[in-house]
Amino acid sequence: MGTTVELTVVAPTEAAGEAAIRAGFAEVARLEQVFSSYRTDSELARVNARAGAGPTPASADFMTLLGRSLEVAARTGGAFNPLMGPVIKRWGIPQNPRVPKPEELAALKPLVDLAGVAVDAKGGTVTLAHPGMALGFGGIAKGYTADRVAALLKARGIRSGIVAVAGDLMVFGARPDGTPWRIGVRHPRDPDRPLATLALTDGAVSTSGDYERYFEVDGRRYHHILDPRTLWPATDAVSVTVLAPQGVVADGLSTGLFVMGVAAGLKVVEAMPGVEALFVAPDGTVTASSGWPGPVPKGL
Ligand code: ADP
Ligand code: MG
Repeated sequence: MGTTVELTVVAPTEAAGEAAIRAGFAEVARLEQVFSSYRTDSELARVNARAGAGPTPASADFMTLLGRSLEVAARTGGAFNPLMGPVIKRWGIPQNPRVPKPEELAALKPLVDLAGVAVDAKGGTVTLAHPGMALGFGGIAKGYTADRVAALLKARGIRSGIVAVAGDLMVFGARPDGTPWRIGVRHPRDPDRPLATLALTDGAVSTSGDYERYFEVDGRRYHHILDPRTLWPATDAVSVTVLAPQGVVADGLSTGLFVMGVAAGLKVVEAMPGVEALFVAPDGTVTASSGWPGPVPKGL
């Protein structure tokens, strides 16, 4: 997945904890084989290779994550868009970053039209209408993975823990002394102090920021969250943190809300029960949704 996964479990014995962690990492490896954009032999690569060639059978995990991706896309008015694969590749994110020419981007525009992806849930197939279309789950697969690993740990009898896939966390249960886990929200400009802290027992937290993967040309910062309308890096946020019952929702939304910015993003969040968000705007002001469970800093 091109990132670090960290598992924390509370277990009755060290052996039980280690066995659970091994099973958790095996699940990460299994899902990486499904969703990875880095592997040429992943299921994602196989589905993308058949763009324009009719319905392609896909696994249950693939169908589920694509379905959730399209739900988040609908919620965010297309700001989250799982068809951004070819555009992400053109910007060379993350391996060979470069600024594409306007005509290169214009040529890609028809490929990100969400009308071009069809899902047949009953038949278990995915259709990408046009050659060159490509799905990319970089903005949502980490949250889905956190959900699946947490479910597996719970099924093995682990009552409490944290699954952290980079900045996408799924927390379950309390700490051994009964108190909630304490989670720091990363400060977008200062890695040494948290922007906010949260006390959590059950739920997911995801942060999308312009600092995670970026490059600079002539003093200008180009980061990895692209606006599907312009195909350029989104400019209306510096970071967005989302709290949700499920990791897949928190991760997908954090990417989509980052593109939407504070005003439009807050409307989406306030309409979703159990979902809260903390936005940092380009001018450094910090805004939280009405049910944000903690103190809100005024600015950076
Ligand atoms: P991070 O990778 O830092 O955790 P995100 O969850 O926000 O951050 O995911 C960013 C990734 O999502 C990008 O690297 C890219 O692969 C993909 N992406 C970029 N723009 C979009 C978009 N508008 N909709 C969906 N995915 C996107
Ligand atoms: Mg995300």
